[in-house]
Amino acid sequence: MSNIILFLLISVAFGLTCREIFFARLKRQEAESACLLNELNRLDDFKKSLNLENNLLSKRFNDILALYELTKDICKSLDEEKVFTTFNKNLKKHIGIDDCRYIKDSADLIKYQNHLILPLNLEGNQIAGYLAVEKILETDKEKFGILTQQFLIGLRRALLYQKVQGLTIIDMLTGVYCRRYFLERFSEELKRSKKNKLCLTFLMIDIDNFKRFNDRYGHLTGDAILRQVSKTISLAVRQIDFIGRYGGEEFSVVLAETNKQQANFAAERIRQAIMLEVIKVYDEELKVTVSIGVSTFPDNALNMQNLIAMADQALYLAKETGKNKVCFSS
Ligand code: GH3
Ligand code: MG
Ligand code: MG
Repeated sequence: MSNIILFLLISVAFGLTCREIFFARLKRQEAESACLLNELNRLDDFKKSLNLENNLLSKRFNDILALYELTKDICKSLDEEKVFTTFNKNLKKHIGIDDCRYIKDSADLIKYQNHLILPLNLEGNQIAGYLAVEKILETDKEKFGILTQQFLIGLRRALLYQKVQGLTIIDMLTGVYCRRYFLERFSEELKRSKKNKLCLTFLMIDIDNFKRFNDRYGHLTGDAILRQVSKTISLAVRQIDFIGRYGGEEFSVVLAETNKQQANFAAERIRQAIMLEVIKVYDEELKVTVSIGVSTFPDNALNMQNLIAMADQALYLAKETGKNKVCFSS
Protein backbone atom coordinates (compact mmCIF):
# COMPACT_ATOMS: atom_id res chain seq x y z
CA MET A 1 0.00 0.00 0.00
CA SER A 2 2.73 2.41 1.02
CA ASN A 3 4.44 1.50 -2.23
CA ILE A 4 1.42 2.53 -4.20
CA ILE A 5 1.23 5.85 -2.33
CA LEU A 6 4.93 6.42 -2.95
CA PHE A 7 4.46 5.62 -6.63
CA LEU A 8 1.53 8.05 -6.84
CA LEU A 9 3.49 10.78 -5.06
CA ILE A 10 6.47 10.28 -7.37
CA SER A 11 4.17 10.35 -10.41
CA VAL A 12 2.51 13.59 -9.26
CA ALA A 13 5.91 15.16 -8.54
CA PHE A 14 7.21 14.01 -11.94
CA GLY A 15 4.08 15.37 -13.62
CA LEU A 16 4.48 18.71 -11.88
CA THR A 17 8.13 18.91 -12.82
CA CYS A 18 7.33 18.10 -16.48
CA ARG A 19 4.65 20.78 -16.46
CA GLU A 20 7.13 23.28 -14.99
CA ILE A 21 9.67 22.36 -17.60
CA PHE A 22 7.08 22.60 -20.36
CA PHE A 23 5.88 26.05 -19.25
CA ALA A 24 9.43 27.30 -18.77
CA ARG A 25 10.28 26.13 -22.28
CA LEU A 26 7.11 27.74 -23.66
CA LYS A 27 8.01 31.00 -21.96
CA ARG A 28 11.53 30.87 -23.36
CA GLN A 29 10.19 30.19 -26.83
CA GLU A 30 7.77 33.05 -26.50
CA ALA A 31 10.59 35.36 -25.44
CA GLU A 32 12.70 34.13 -28.35
CA SER A 33 9.80 34.70 -30.78
CA ALA A 34 9.31 38.22 -29.44
CA CYS A 35 13.04 38.85 -29.91
CA LEU A 36 12.91 37.51 -33.44
CA LEU A 37 9.85 39.61 -34.19
CA ASN A 38 11.66 42.65 -32.87
CA GLU A 39 14.67 41.87 -35.01
CA LEU A 40 12.39 41.35 -38.01
CA ASN A 41 10.71 44.70 -37.44
CA ARG A 42 14.09 46.34 -37.05
CA LEU A 43 15.28 44.76 -40.32
CA ASP A 44 12.08 45.86 -42.02
CA ASP A 45 12.62 49.45 -40.85
CA PHE A 46 16.22 49.26 -41.99
CA LYS A 47 15.09 47.99 -45.40
CA LYS A 48 12.60 50.85 -45.64
CA SER A 49 15.22 53.43 -44.77
CA LEU A 50 17.60 51.84 -47.30
CA ASN A 51 14.90 52.02 -49.97
CA LEU A 52 14.25 55.63 -49.09
CA GLU A 53 17.94 56.46 -49.26
CA ASN A 54 18.20 54.55 -52.53
CA ASN A 55 15.29 56.52 -54.00
CA LEU A 56 16.81 59.79 -52.87
CA LEU A 57 20.18 58.81 -54.36
CA SER A 58 18.58 57.76 -57.67
CA LYS A 59 16.64 61.00 -57.82
CA ARG A 60 19.79 62.99 -57.14
CA PHE A 61 21.69 60.92 -59.71
CA ASN A 62 18.96 61.51 -62.31
CA ASP A 63 18.88 65.22 -61.49
CA ILE A 64 22.64 65.47 -61.96
CA LEU A 65 22.51 63.36 -65.12
CA ALA A 66 19.77 65.64 -66.47
CA LEU A 67 22.06 68.60 -65.86
CA TYR A 68 24.89 66.95 -67.80
CA GLU A 69 22.48 66.16 -70.61
CA LEU A 70 21.74 69.86 -70.94
CA THR A 71 25.04 70.21 -72.82
CA LYS A 72 23.11 69.25 -75.97
CA ASP A 73 20.64 72.09 -75.46
CA ILE A 74 23.15 74.66 -74.37
CA CYS A 75 25.48 73.83 -77.25
CA LYS A 76 22.74 73.85 -79.88
CA SER A 77 23.53 77.38 -80.95
CA LEU A 78 26.86 78.86 -82.00
CA ASP A 79 25.74 82.32 -81.00
CA GLU A 80 27.12 83.21 -77.57
CA GLU A 81 24.04 85.24 -76.58
CA LYS A 82 21.76 82.32 -77.44
CA VAL A 83 24.06 79.94 -75.54
CA PHE A 84 23.71 82.19 -72.49
CA THR A 85 19.91 82.48 -72.88
CA THR A 86 19.56 78.67 -72.83
CA PHE A 87 21.89 78.40 -69.84
CA ASN A 88 19.98 81.11 -67.97
CA LYS A 89 16.64 79.44 -68.69
CA ASN A 90 17.93 76.19 -67.20
CA LEU A 91 19.38 78.03 -64.23
CA LYS A 92 15.94 79.37 -63.44
CA LYS A 93 14.35 75.96 -63.99
CA HIS A 94 16.78 73.84 -61.95
CA ILE A 95 17.99 76.20 -59.25
CA GLY A 96 15.51 79.04 -59.16
CA ILE A 97 18.10 81.79 -59.59
CA ASP A 98 16.30 84.76 -61.08
CA ASP A 99 19.14 87.10 -61.73
CA CYS A 100 22.16 85.91 -63.65
CA ARG A 101 24.05 88.11 -66.12
CA TYR A 102 26.73 87.35 -68.65
CA ILE A 103 29.15 90.24 -68.57
CA LYS A 104 31.82 90.54 -71.23
CA ASP A 105 33.53 93.71 -70.10
CA SER A 106 35.11 93.74 -66.63
CA ALA A 107 34.40 97.49 -66.42
CA ASP A 108 30.68 96.64 -66.11
CA LEU A 109 31.23 94.51 -63.01
CA ILE A 110 30.96 97.57 -60.79
CA LYS A 111 27.20 97.55 -61.35
CA TYR A 112 26.92 94.11 -59.76
CA GLN A 113 28.58 94.60 -56.40
CA ASN A 114 25.88 92.63 -54.57
CA HIS A 115 26.25 89.69 -56.92
CA LEU A 116 28.55 86.74 -56.83
CA ILE A 117 31.05 87.19 -59.69
CA LEU A 118 32.52 84.17 -61.44
CA PRO A 119 35.19 84.54 -64.11
CA LEU A 120 34.68 82.34 -67.17
CA ASN A 121 38.12 80.93 -67.84
CA LEU A 122 39.15 79.71 -71.24
CA GLU A 123 42.35 77.88 -72.09
CA GLY A 124 45.62 79.73 -71.53
CA ASN A 125 44.33 81.94 -68.68
CA GLN A 126 42.07 83.87 -71.03
CA ILE A 127 38.82 85.14 -69.58
CA ALA A 128 35.76 85.04 -71.85
CA GLY A 129 33.69 87.14 -69.47
CA TYR A 130 31.99 86.88 -66.11
CA LEU A 131 28.82 85.52 -64.64
CA ALA A 132 27.16 87.75 -62.07
CA VAL A 133 24.59 85.85 -60.04
CA GLU A 134 22.44 86.59 -57.07
CA LYS A 135 23.15 84.60 -53.87
CA ILE A 136 23.18 80.83 -54.29
CA LEU A 137 22.10 78.43 -51.54
CA GLU A 138 24.85 76.12 -50.29
CA THR A 139 22.72 73.13 -51.40
CA ASP A 140 22.50 74.46 -54.97
CA LYS A 141 26.20 75.04 -55.42
CA GLU A 142 26.90 71.62 -56.95
CA LYS A 143 24.13 72.02 -59.55
CA PHE A 144 25.25 75.53 -60.31
CA GLY A 145 28.84 74.33 -60.83
CA ILE A 146 27.67 71.65 -63.28
CA LEU A 147 25.48 74.08 -65.22
CA THR A 148 28.28 76.63 -65.39
CA GLN A 149 30.55 73.97 -66.87
CA GLN A 150 27.93 73.29 -69.57
CA PHE A 151 27.74 77.01 -70.30
CA LEU A 152 31.51 77.19 -70.59
CA ILE A 153 31.52 74.33 -73.12
CA GLY A 154 28.83 76.12 -75.18
CA LEU A 155 30.63 79.43 -74.87
CA ARG A 156 33.96 77.95 -75.97
CA ARG A 157 32.30 76.45 -79.06
CA ALA A 158 30.61 79.74 -79.92
CA LEU A 159 33.82 81.74 -79.51
CA LEU A 160 35.80 79.22 -81.53
CA TYR A 161 33.19 79.40 -84.28
CA GLN A 162 33.40 83.20 -84.27
CA LYS A 163 37.17 82.95 -84.54
CA VAL A 164 37.03 80.48 -87.41
CA GLN A 165 34.37 82.56 -89.17
CA GLY A 166 36.63 85.57 -88.81
CA LEU A 167 39.49 83.69 -90.38
CA THR A 168 37.64 82.16 -93.28
CA ILE A 169 36.87 83.78 -96.57
CA ILE A 170 34.03 81.59 -97.73
CA ASP A 171 30.65 81.21 -96.08
CA MET A 172 30.38 77.50 -95.28
CA LEU A 173 26.69 77.17 -96.15
CA THR A 174 26.46 79.01 -99.44
CA GLY A 175 29.99 78.99 -100.81
CA VAL A 176 30.01 82.75 -101.47
CA TYR A 177 32.29 85.20 -99.63
CA CYS A 178 31.58 85.71 -95.96
CA ARG A 179 30.60 89.23 -94.97
CA ARG A 180 33.98 90.29 -93.56
CA TYR A 181 35.92 89.21 -96.64
CA PHE A 182 33.26 90.60 -98.98
CA LEU A 183 33.63 94.02 -97.33
CA GLU A 184 37.41 93.86 -97.69
CA ARG A 185 37.05 93.10 -101.39
CA PHE A 186 34.39 95.80 -101.76
CA SER A 187 36.70 98.37 -100.20
CA GLU A 188 39.56 97.39 -102.54
CA GLU A 189 37.29 97.46 -105.58
CA LEU A 190 36.03 100.90 -104.62
CA LYS A 191 39.61 102.19 -104.35
CA ARG A 192 40.34 100.76 -107.78
CA SER A 193 37.18 102.38 -109.20
CA LYS A 194 38.11 105.76 -107.71
CA LYS A 195 41.65 105.52 -109.01
CA ASN A 196 40.59 104.51 -112.51
CA LYS A 197 37.48 106.70 -112.56
CA LEU A 198 35.16 103.73 -113.07
CA CYS A 199 31.66 103.24 -111.79
CA LEU A 200 30.64 100.40 -109.54
CA THR A 201 27.26 99.11 -108.40
CA PHE A 202 26.33 97.51 -105.13
CA LEU A 203 23.30 95.22 -104.75
CA MET A 204 21.66 94.19 -101.52
CA ILE A 205 19.50 91.12 -102.14
CA ASP A 206 17.06 89.80 -99.55
CA ILE A 207 14.90 86.70 -99.90
CA ASP A 208 11.21 87.52 -99.51
CA ASN A 209 9.27 85.95 -96.67
CA PHE A 210 12.10 83.56 -95.95
CA LYS A 211 11.01 83.04 -92.37
CA ARG A 212 7.80 81.43 -93.62
CA PHE A 213 9.82 78.82 -95.55
CA ASN A 214 11.84 78.03 -92.45
CA ASP A 215 8.72 77.82 -90.32
CA ARG A 216 6.84 75.67 -92.79
CA TYR A 217 9.54 73.33 -94.10
CA GLY A 218 12.23 73.51 -91.40
CA HIS A 219 15.71 74.99 -91.24
CA LEU A 220 17.38 72.30 -93.36
CA THR A 221 15.09 73.20 -96.23
CA GLY A 222 15.76 76.87 -95.49
CA ASP A 223 19.49 76.15 -95.78
CA ALA A 224 18.97 74.36 -99.11
CA ILE A 225 17.08 77.42 -100.39
CA LEU A 226 19.97 79.67 -99.34
CA ARG A 227 22.43 77.43 -101.19
CA GLN A 228 20.33 77.44 -104.35
CA VAL A 229 19.73 81.20 -104.29
CA SER A 230 23.46 81.88 -103.94
CA LYS A 231 24.13 79.50 -106.84
CA THR A 232 21.57 81.25 -109.04
CA ILE A 233 23.07 84.66 -108.22
CA SER A 234 26.56 83.35 -109.05
CA LEU A 235 25.36 82.10 -112.43
CA ALA A 236 23.66 85.43 -113.20
CA VAL A 237 26.70 87.66 -112.67
CA ARG A 238 30.05 87.98 -114.47
CA GLN A 239 33.38 86.61 -113.32
CA ILE A 240 34.62 90.04 -112.29
CA ASP A 241 31.64 90.59 -110.00
CA PHE A 242 31.64 89.12 -106.52
CA ILE A 243 29.04 87.95 -104.04
CA GLY A 244 28.91 87.84 -100.26
CA ARG A 245 26.51 86.51 -97.70
CA TYR A 246 25.77 89.73 -95.91
CA GLY A 247 23.51 88.26 -93.23
CA GLY A 248 21.15 85.32 -92.70
CA GLU A 249 19.15 85.48 -95.94
CA GLU A 250 20.76 88.58 -97.39
CA PHE A 251 23.30 88.52 -100.17
CA SER A 252 25.41 91.41 -101.38
CA VAL A 253 26.93 91.78 -104.82
CA VAL A 254 29.51 94.17 -106.25
CA LEU A 255 29.11 94.68 -109.99
CA ALA A 256 32.46 96.04 -111.06
CA GLU A 257 32.63 98.74 -113.74
CA THR A 258 28.85 98.92 -113.88
CA ASN A 259 26.69 102.03 -114.05
CA LYS A 260 23.09 102.40 -113.01
CA GLN A 261 21.61 101.48 -116.38
CA GLN A 262 23.74 98.37 -116.74
CA ALA A 263 22.98 97.49 -113.12
CA ASN A 264 19.28 97.52 -113.87
CA PHE A 265 19.77 94.68 -116.37
CA ALA A 266 21.96 92.72 -114.00
CA ALA A 267 19.66 93.12 -111.00
CA GLU A 268 16.57 92.23 -113.05
CA ARG A 269 18.40 89.20 -114.47
CA ILE A 270 19.15 88.01 -110.94
CA ARG A 271 15.60 88.66 -109.68
CA GLN A 272 13.99 86.84 -112.60
CA ALA A 273 16.41 83.91 -112.50
CA ILE A 274 15.55 83.37 -108.84
CA MET A 275 11.83 83.83 -109.39
CA LEU A 276 11.80 81.23 -112.21
CA GLU A 277 14.02 78.69 -110.46
CA VAL A 278 12.25 75.61 -109.08
CA ILE A 279 14.13 74.59 -105.96
CA LYS A 280 13.92 70.88 -105.31
CA VAL A 281 14.44 70.03 -101.67
CA TYR A 282 13.67 66.50 -100.51
CA ASP A 283 10.13 65.93 -101.87
CA GLU A 284 9.26 69.59 -102.20
CA GLU A 285 9.42 71.82 -105.24
CA LEU A 286 9.69 75.38 -104.00
CA LYS A 287 9.85 78.84 -105.51
CA VAL A 288 11.20 81.94 -103.85
CA THR A 289 11.51 85.58 -104.81
CA VAL A 290 13.94 88.28 -103.80
CA SER A 291 13.88 92.03 -103.37
CA ILE A 292 16.92 94.00 -104.46
CA GLY A 293 18.20 97.43 -103.41
CA VAL A 294 20.72 99.10 -105.72
CA SER A 295 23.24 101.91 -105.19
CA THR A 296 25.89 103.10 -107.62
CA PHE A 297 29.27 104.79 -107.19
CA PRO A 298 29.76 107.68 -107.77
CA ASP A 299 26.09 108.68 -108.40
CA ASN A 300 24.65 107.76 -105.00
CA ALA A 301 27.60 107.81 -102.64
CA LEU A 302 31.37 107.98 -102.58
CA ASN A 303 32.24 105.63 -99.77
CA MET A 304 31.41 102.04 -98.91
CA GLN A 305 29.33 102.71 -95.77
CA ASN A 306 27.08 105.15 -97.61
CA LEU A 307 26.73 102.91 -100.64
CA ILE A 308 25.58 100.10 -98.35
CA ALA A 309 23.19 102.41 -96.49
CA MET A 310 21.70 103.69 -99.77
CA ALA A 311 21.20 100.17 -101.14
CA ASP A 312 19.64 99.21 -97.83
CA GLN A 313 17.16 102.07 -98.10
CA ALA A 314 16.30 101.04 -101.63
CA LEU A 315 15.81 97.47 -100.46
CA TYR A 316 13.52 98.70 -97.72
CA LEU A 317 11.49 100.52 -100.35
CA ALA A 318 11.27 97.35 -102.45
CA LYS A 319 9.95 95.46 -99.44
CA GLU A 320 7.51 98.18 -98.53
CA THR A 321 6.09 98.43 -102.03
CA GLY A 322 5.29 94.78 -102.58
CA LYS A 323 8.57 92.75 -102.67
CA ASN A 324 9.91 90.70 -105.62
CA LYS A 325 11.28 93.88 -107.24
CA VAL A 326 14.39 95.95 -107.82
CA CYS A 327 14.53 99.48 -106.36
CA PHE A 328 17.23 102.06 -106.97
CA SER A 329 18.69 104.50 -104.55
CA SER A 330 17.66 108.01 -105.48
P1 GH3 B 1 11.10 89.84 -95.62
O1 GH3 B 1 10.35 89.49 -96.85
O2 GH3 B 1 10.61 91.10 -95.01
O3 GH3 B 1 12.57 89.86 -95.86
O4 GH3 B 1 10.77 88.70 -94.54
P2 GH3 B 1 11.70 87.51 -94.12
O5 GH3 B 1 10.84 86.48 -93.51
O6 GH3 B 1 12.57 87.07 -95.25
O7 GH3 B 1 12.67 88.23 -93.11
P3 GH3 B 1 12.96 88.02 -91.60
O8 GH3 B 1 14.09 88.95 -91.30
O9 GH3 B 1 11.72 88.14 -90.78
O10 GH3 B 1 13.46 86.53 -91.46
C1 GH3 B 1 14.69 86.12 -91.92
C2 GH3 B 1 14.84 84.69 -91.48
O11 GH3 B 1 16.04 84.12 -91.98
C3 GH3 B 1 14.90 84.53 -89.98
C4 GH3 B 1 16.02 83.56 -89.74
O12 GH3 B 1 15.61 82.52 -88.91
C5 GH3 B 1 16.36 83.05 -91.11
N1 GH3 B 1 17.77 82.68 -91.25
C6 GH3 B 1 18.85 83.43 -91.03
N2 GH3 B 1 19.98 82.74 -91.27
C7 GH3 B 1 19.61 81.48 -91.63
C8 GH3 B 1 20.32 80.29 -92.01
O13 GH3 B 1 21.55 80.24 -92.05
N3 GH3 B 1 19.59 79.20 -92.33
C9 GH3 B 1 18.23 79.22 -92.28
N4 GH3 B 1 17.57 78.13 -92.62
N5 GH3 B 1 17.53 80.31 -91.92
C10 GH3 B 1 18.21 81.44 -91.61
MG1 MG C 1 16.59 90.04 -94.14
MG1 MG D 1 13.95 88.37 -96.10
